[in-house]
Amino acid sequence: MFDKLRSAFSDAAKSLSEKELNEKDIEDILFELEISLHESDVASEVIDEIKSDLKSGLIGTKVNKNEIEKFVKDSLISTISLLFDSAGKVDIFERINEKKETGQPFLILFVGINGTGKTTSLAKMAYMLQKKKYSVVVAAADTFRAGAIEQLREHTNRLNLKLVAQNYDSDPAAVARDAVLYAKSHKVDCVLIDTAGRMQTNQNLMEQISKITKVVKPDFKIFVGDSLAGNDTINQAKEFFKYVKFDGSILTKSDADARGGAALSIVKTTSTPVLYLGTGQEYPDLEEFDKETFLETVFGSLENVDLKTIEPTPEPEPTPEPEPTPEPEPTPEPEPTPEPNVTSDDPFEGISDEDISIYSELFDVPPPENDNEAKQLSKKIKEWINKGRPKSEENTKQAPAGGLKEPKTEDEDQKPDKEEKKPKKKRGTFGFFRK
Ligand code: GDP
Repeated sequence: MFDKLRSAFSDAAKSLSEKELNEKDIEDILFELEISLHESDVASEVIDEIKSDLKSGLIGTKVNKNEIEKFVKDSLISTISLLFDSAGKVDIFERINEKKETGQPFLILFVGINGTGKTTSLAKMAYMLQKKKYSVVVAAADTFRAGAIEQLREHTNRLNLKLVAQNYDSDPAAVARDAVLYAKSHKVDCVLIDTAGRMQTNQNLMEQISKITKVVKPDFKIFVGDSLAGNDTINQAKEFFKYVKFDGSILTKSDADARGGAALSIVKTTSTPVLYLGTGQEYPDLEEFDKETFLETVFGSLENVDLKTIEPTPEPEPTPEPEPTPEPEPTPEPEPTPEPNVTSDDPFEGISDEDISIYSELFDVPPPENDNEAKQLSKKIKEWINKGRPKSEENTKQAPAGGLKEPKTEDEDQKPDKEEKKPKKKRGTFGFFRK
């Protein structure tokens, strides 16, 4: 049972423990695992979850090499265990008892495709209920398939149960309603309703089943799927679930199922639990689905695994954000060509060499020693030019011998004369400032 699934997981765990765990190796092993899981009838949704949990666990956690195999096994068990847990668990007997207390029969509707083992499973369930001392009536609401009513009658005769049936082609909802009325009038605990199972894509079938559910309002709906039918079973389950929101499933023929992925897939795709596994052709061959038994079948002993404390695979340690690729430096806007004004680098911009030289000679001005002096001088020259280049200023009258006193700029007029105390840097000649 489930050999393929078992070897898919153990191969992955072994390969991971034998290799250096770089991302490439992990990817390769996970790819192998993916293929094996597909071959084991595991639905893609489940494979994605298993892979992503395992990968993030392996990449984000520093695991000692000797413990990799156990780590991988624990991670797989954790993912699968949580998957089953998330579908919830149903105690059908508790539900039957609750209904029984109200004096009403508990109605169970069976849906599924012909040949999957629906009738046999219904009979097994009737047998199990009888064993638990519940009274049962069966409704032959598959009025379509030739032989369906006889097949059911054979089971009810063997089990000594009441069968409510009409002719073929009669309204299945009416058959179901008759069975419910019988159960109410005879104080029967449970009504098991068989339904037709043509191809799941058949619109009429789905409408017929929807009608039954509207008419009798079952307390519980069970999808019966053949675990050997692989993807077909998953597609059937999805399609039925669209029309009949069933509460759980019975997977038949598990005794012959070498792959084992059906349970995982059906739970994941419908978010409802697997209730029972059909494990043979006899009435007692219906086993309650048990998560731990499933995990043990696939992973071997769970002795050192505490399912109660098993945590979801830790979130990977935040991988340091890759250094953001530096934004390419914005190409600098071409420098706008500076307007020729005094703020340009050349303080003497706009003043002709001739004016500078006349002014310098006229007022015996030495070449400026620094930028500041150059600016001051250029300002004076401009004011001098603006005044019409006078050969002398008013203040020239007080000019000492040997040269005219240089006219003050408007700024200097505001400020007391103050000699610059800064050590003067030898900046070369006047021409240095003439850039
Ligand atoms: P239905 O058409 O869906 O009602 O299918 P049946 O109940 O007639 O079952 C189809 C065949 O599957 C029968 O031969 C059953 O004996 C067989 N079958 C049903 N359930 C199981 C099971 O759990 N294990 C095995 N091995 N055979 C099963």
